[in-house]
Amino acid sequence: MQNITILGATGSIGLSTLEVMRLHPQRFHLYAVSGYSQLDKLADIANQYLPEYVVVNTQEDAQRLSTMINSDCDATILFGERALCEIASAEQVDAVMSAIVGAAGLLPTLAAVKAGKKVLLANKESLVMCGELFIDAVNKHGATLIPIDSEHNAIFQCLPHDYEYAKPNSSGISHLLLTASGGPFRELMPAELDDVTPEQACAHPNWDMGRKISVDSASMMNKGLEFIEAKWLFGVDEDNIKVVIHPQSTIHSMVQYKDGSVLAQMGNPDMRTPIAHALAFPERIESGVSDLNFFEQASFSFESPEKARFPNLFLAMRASRLGQAATTALNAANEIAVEAFLNEHIRFTDIYKVNLQVVENMHTPTLKTIDEIIAHDKACRHLAQSVCASMHQGREK
Ligand code: NAD
Ligand code: MG
Repeated sequence: MQNITILGATGSIGLSTLEVMRLHPQRFHLYAVSGYSQLDKLADIANQYLPEYVVVNTQEDAQRLSTMINSDCDATILFGERALCEIASAEQVDAVMSAIVGAAGLLPTLAAVKAGKKVLLANKESLVMCGELFIDAVNKHGATLIPIDSEHNAIFQCLPHDYEYAKPNSSGISHLLLTASGGPFRELMPAELDDVTPEQACAHPNWDMGRKISVDSASMMNKGLEFIEAKWLFGVDEDNIKVVIHPQSTIHSMVQYKDGSVLAQMGNPDMRTPIAHALAFPERIESGVSDLNFFEQASFSFESPEKARFPNLFLAMRASRLGQAATTALNAANEIAVEAFLNEHIRFTDIYKVNLQVVENMHTPTLKTIDEIIAHDKACRHLAQSVCASMHQGREK
């Protein structure tokens, strides 16, 4: 029996993880969960799965949640970041699903890494903010890192079992092929992107996800973050990662080998597949996802991403080459800009303008510690907020 902590249990990835675990009650026990704003969802999870610990954001939330929990659930309710780190690193825990969205996931995920846990990483922002320090901590503390992001999980499955970090050449690998759906705006003209709404941006054609990652998918910033994530997860240079648009999202990513072979991982686009793969690794278990029906596939197509339509992707690739301060800046700016777009304060196309301005102004410092990264993240958010505020004022006039 494995004890599992789910950070961000009320979100899209958190709920899918619970669905997979429910199929295997003899294998997985829910040790602890965290939630943030949706206390009713969190209370339902606690009442149904009876974890030992539930973590919320504030003391008031903890008090409110305690009135929503049934008498047969005797979970201890805690609050705040320190409690998140505790449920991620507790001795009883075997594996941690890191599924908080954004920079808020960094410290709890690092706590799991430093405790040497098996870390199932959905929170790609951790690697974008501090990939080098994060991977150093994984190696130093003997943690096991398994990617949940479908593309990276696919690449993980297509790499040789003895693949050595940062040695693609000696494993016969030419490059990684990161597939992208292109999102809901793949066929719009760049000028039409000015007026798209948050609802249109969140209506992804293939995947059902949280709002932030849905907007990131529409702007292809998600693929940019994944480009940086792939660099750190697999220890490959930027030149060894290529992005391919594959609108059907059936191939989740590929590895091109030097002998001409390409290995692809395929399936229906459903996050329960990578979640089940990571939870049971190296075994294979039922995920609840139906078999891929090849006879229902109308086509399998591939395109190259265009810079004019998806400037955020190219900005992320540039930031990756600039280094840690640039990718931290990009992540911070993007979180602020996406929120401003979801609140209808800025346009969809303004997201790129905010990101560019923050990266250009904030890419130079050398960041050597987590504290320096967090301070830089804060400064970048501050700048992004003021850029968004002046854009918002400009729109209201
Ligand atoms: P979501 O918005 O559905 O859920 C986010 C979770 O984080 C919720 O449980 C929420 O309560 C919690 N949370 C939000 N802000 C928080 C804060 N400040 N402090 C603590 N907890 C907070 O998001 P999601 O789609 O499930 O994505 C989660 C992560 O997984 C993201 O990093 C995303 O990039 C990654 N991911 C998601 C998918 C997907 O299909 N949804 C695929 C690949 C990767
Ligand atoms: Mg992905």
